[in-house]
Parts: sequence; C-alpha cells; structure tokens
Amino acid sequence: AAERYVSIRDKPAQTLCGEVVALTMNAGLMADLPSLEGSGAEGVGLFRTELQFLIRNQMPKRSELSALYARVLDAAGGKKVVFRTLDIGSDKVLPYMKPNDEPNPALGWRAIRVGLDKPGVMQMQLQALLRAAAGRPLTVMFPFVAQFEEYTQACAQMDKAIERERSLGNVLPENIEVGAMLETPSLAFAPQKFFEEVGFLSIGGNDLKQFFFAADRENERVRRRYDTLNVSFLTFIERIVERCEITKTPLSFCGEDAGRPVEALCLAAIGLRNLSMRPASIGPVKSLLRRSNLAEVRKVISDARHRGEMNVRPAIMEYLRQQG
Ligand code: PEP
Ligand code: MG
Repeated sequence: AAERYVSIRDKPAQTLCGEVVALTMNAGLMADLPSLEGSGAEGVGLFRTELQFLIRNQMPKRSELSALYARVLDAAGGKKVVFRTLDIGSDKVLPYMKPNDEPNPALGWRAIRVGLDKPGVMQMQLQALLRAAAGRPLTVMFPFVAQFEEYTQACAQMDKAIERERSLGNVLPENIEVGAMLETPSLAFAPQKFFEEVGFLSIGGNDLKQFFFAADRENERVRRRYDTLNVSFLTFIERIVERCEITKTPLSFCGEDAGRPVEALCLAAIGLRNLSMRPASIGPVKSLLRRSNLAEVRKVISDARHRGEMNVRPAIMEYLRQQG
C-alpha cells in the first residue's frame, strides 16, 4: 500500500484551494525513525519518551537517555522533533516503579502530575534532553497539563535544568521551545495569559476526547459511541483553534484522529494546520488533502450544522462520494 503514495511523498499536503497542512509523525522508538524519510513526514510532532522507559526493567540512566535523544536528533537530520516528557501512569506503568493503587488511574497521578511531584526524574530527563541537543534546537512538550500553574511549574523545572547545565559549563541547545499538550478540557478554558505564554500547543485528541465525552479510551464498549465528527466535539476543537489564532499560539493535533483521512480533512477544514500521526497514515491523509477543497468542506460542515445534524460525518461522506 505504501507504494501508492511514493509519488506524493516529497510533495506538500497542499489542498486544491492552496492551503498547506504540515504533516508530521508520531514516534517513540529508534525503530520508528527510518519512517521519517520513507513517509515524507516533515518532522516528529510527538516523540513519546515514555516508551524508552517502558521497554526496560530498570530506570534508564541520564547518560543513556542523552545518547539516545542525540541519536534521535541525528536521525531526524535537522527536521524538528517534539520530545514529550515522560507520560506515565494510567495505562503506562513502569515495571520498576511501585504501581499506585488508584481507583481511576486515567484520572489519577500521571504524566506532568508525577513530574511535578517527583522532580528528580523530570530533572534527569530534562538534563538528558538539554545535553543531547547541545548546540542545536530543542523542542520539549509537557503532557497532560490541566491548568496554567502546572505549565508554569514545569517551565520552572526547565529553567532549573538549564541553570544547572550553565553552571556546569555545558553547551546549551541553540534554541529551546517549550509547549504543552492540550488533552484536558480545562486547559481549553485557561486564561488568555496562558495562551500568550505557552510556546505552542498540541491537542492530544485521544485523551481530550476521552475526557470530553467521559468515555474511557481503553473501553471499546463506550469508546465507540462517541464520534470525533460529533458537532459538540468539533465545536470544542474549533474554539481552541480560535483562541490560538487570537494569541498566535502555534497549534497542532497529535491524537490518532489526525491519521484518519476523513477526520484529518475535517480538522484541517476547521483550521488545524499541523497534524501529527503514525507514519503509515501520512500518505493516505496527504492524498485526500491534495484532492480536497477546504472551503467546500467548511461549507458542508456548516450546512450540516444549520440543518441541525448532530454529527457531520454523514454529510462529509456524501460530499466525498459525490467528489468520486
Ligand atoms: C493523546 O492523548 O492524544 C496523545 C497523543 O497522547 P497519548 O495517546 O500518548 O496519551
Ligand atoms: Mg495523551
């Protein structure tokens, strides 16, 4: 199937109406990196660093992590890599950390919450990242930020790690970008100042959708009831896009929906200009975007809403059928 998309691999995801959508890939293991070339991804929009912690039976050392991150940056050959700091807890339990007995792990002590409460591991990881990127650009993203203060505290951790490197006389990255994942509904309603201060935002649609509909992403029975193209959810995403436009905050979307062509088309139509997905999805998504007119898709969406439809999928599918 991959051969089908080879002819468009080095072409941009430019729609018929001239709008360009950046397509990047999600990764987490060294084995994912050759796909950067093969898929035509413009960079790594989400590097899930917890995978390196999950495949070991003991906590990795800072020097090991730093060497590994440096290899990731080498393999990316100058393309941007967004490193997400450790996102553990919930479904991702480290074999060498005492599991927490929590009644609702998805709503529990996870991701940035662990990082802020146990700054030792976070400092270790941030230092490994800073060292790996010495003399070149570094982009770091904090997962599961639910409120402005958590982002501020995570940034203070980053500043502390930078200060430490500086005092040791180590070469720092040439430029450091710091951002947050938007995967809890609360963050979408953060004060404007948050949108002004955050370096960039990436919508973690998997978690955002789970919390928006109160439906466990791991539970097939309830998960399937809720569609991303449900008008409530699309309206919510649109609101986030609008807020980011006001403050000129760079925004991307890195949940699984970014890699589903019809969902990706609708996300692009409502204003997303950067989608990060598994490498195998880049060809199919790019192919559909290149054949599409976003202004028309926007019209299909707004007409469906005006007719009072609760989900825009039927209207979009009918439109795509007519397009052939
Ligand atoms: C998400 O929640 O959409 C996301 C990209 O992160 P993860 O799937 O790793 O939780
Ligand atoms: Mg998530």
